[in-house]
Amino acid sequence: MNTKITIVLIEDEKNICHFIASTLTAQDYKVFTASNAQTGISLITSSCPDLILLDLGLPDRDGLEIIEEIRTWASIPIIVISARTQEQEKVRALDSGADDYITKPFGPSELMARIRTALRHSNRLHTDSLINQRPYQAEGLVINFEKRLVTLDGAEIHLTQIEFKIVSLLARNSGKVITYDSLISNVWGPYADDDNRILRVNMANIRRKLEKNPAEPHYIFTEIGIGYRMLEDKEG
Ligand code: CA
Repeated sequence: MNTKITIVLIEDEKNICHFIASTLTAQDYKVFTASNAQTGISLITSSCPDLILLDLGLPDRDGLEIIEEIRTWASIPIIVISARTQEQEKVRALDSGADDYITKPFGPSELMARIRTALRHSNRLHTDSLINQRPYQAEGLVINFEKRLVTLDGAEIHLTQIEFKIVSLLARNSGKVITYDSLISNVWGPYADDDNRILRVNMANIRRKLEKNPAEPHYIFTEIGIGYRMLEDKEG
């Protein structure tokens, strides 16, 4: 039997490393741990893991550099482990090719949810690939990408072209955080103004249409300073 999902964990804080490794082992994942970048990278090349958990603050190298290096040769999902004070690093990590992040301190269920989501999605942003033609469905909200139809509890929701583009991009990547910049460049193109204002205006309109209480969103969550995350598709 050699079918266990393999995870390489690169984390220099012993307690966190131990906590994550024992959580994953209990869930039947195979875990290799490293406490610095050099060991971590050689573990990645030798074990070909299904997923990488990477602390951004390592003793020997900057985590962002490691992401960029890994991305030159592998598309393995990377989840960044970061401290609460590292908002800018999180954004840079995501824009460098990390799939998601988890902020310390976190519990086992949050960790497992992030891992399951990352394993299901490839690291690439899903825009219009065929595997994503199945409608998104979660708690009364259905998005039919082919028909460009959005319904909430069976009633059609009218979105503008731009609003639909934003919602479908988030829905195709549901459960994953999408940074403001990557949303803007995917919706408005790579030369769009990097000002988030137009995105915020559109999001406010989307929430007015989708959410019962736009101030407490149920479908599209704000990750402050980073981007948006859509409620995970119930089919998964
Ligand atoms: Ca650290």
